[in-house]
Amino acid sequence: MDWTQEQVRRADDLHREALVVDFHCDAVLATLPDSAFDTGSGQGRKLTDRSSEGHVDVPRLLEGGVDCQVFSHFVEPVYNPMAPGRMLQILGFSLAEIEAFEHLALVTCGAEIRRNHGEKVSVLIGFEGGEALGGDLRRLRVFHRLGLRRLTLCWNNRNELADGVGWQQSGSGLTEFGSEVVRECEQLGILVDVSHMTDRGFWDTLEVAGGPVIASHSNSRALCGSMRNLTDEMILALAAKGGVIGVNYVPFFLVDLDFDKLRQDDVQERSKAEAATVETVLDHIDHMVKLTGSADHVGLGSDFDGVPTSVKGLEDTSEVPNLTRGLVARGYSDGDIVKILGENFLRVIEQVCG
Ligand SMILES: [Zn+2]
Repeated sequence: MDWTQEQVRRADDLHREALVVDFHCDAVLATLPDSAFDTGSGQGRKLTDRSSEGHVDVPRLLEGGVDCQVFSHFVEPVYNPMAPGRMLQILGFSLAEIEAFEHLALVTCGAEIRRNHGEKVSVLIGFEGGEALGGDLRRLRVFHRLGLRRLTLCWNNRNELADGVGWQQSGSGLTEFGSEVVRECEQLGILVDVSHMTDRGFWDTLEVAGGPVIASHSNSRALCGSMRNLTDEMILALAAKGGVIGVNYVPFFLVDLDFDKLRQDDVQERSKAEAATVETVLDHIDHMVKLTGSADHVGLGSDFDGVPTSVKGLEDTSEVPNLTRGLVARGYSDGDIVKILGENFLRVIEQVCG
């Protein structure tokens, strides 16, 4: 992180003017009072209060100049048999939080996000996993009415829509119901998100979808072999459909790590994880930009509060300006930086949600 004063000044000006969009964080799960899923990311905090734990709260969003944050909503697996009802409880919590804070505003379209720029942090509702539909398409319309604008079809497990990466060996992708959901999302104006899908599910979704598809929080598999990441072929196919990929800041999706060793607190694995920095995130951005030949298909999808770890220089959401500094230092044009920071995601929001 060797930035000149001039680079920092130019980056900070640009960051303030730009509309910064983060397409995935788990702040709702981390602050839900009765959460049955500990992300290890400062559970029990309040969204309003600045904390030194976890990654996202309102004061730190404001410090980091994040103008639009997708709040992911995740039904804890223990509640899956009653997922639709549990999702309503979680939504009841988050909608009350958003309404209670003058600095937050629920948004459902691009125009609202642009209107709030510089005034409030826009919050877009996302679901991580289609369990909340309980296998019934009619619920999608209801959730759309409640604000749903981004649906990650599945998490790591299997659900009625698709198999997640934890089921890669099944060779299965999107189910018939999953295909119906993709088509209905496009009808209603909900962004379809392929992060967490098996490879087969990714290709199935791209085939079924008529318009752009996003990957809200996935990196490049050429740089880090995790199955949560996208191969070069996938990145090119997603870009060809006009989609956007949100890079995340999670060490084990940035560099190759041995999970079993990491869990046993192996010193060597730990030092590899700790070597990931904001520059490693920029390497993934560089790779996608060079591969697709433009800066039109990359955005930000931190995954903050979804995992207990973070990388140096992006320890929490207040440090997002470091990404802009890094992009300036790497020679990106102002126009390309503004696209990566948020305009690309805004483009697909406007196209799909209105
Ligand atoms: Zn996730």
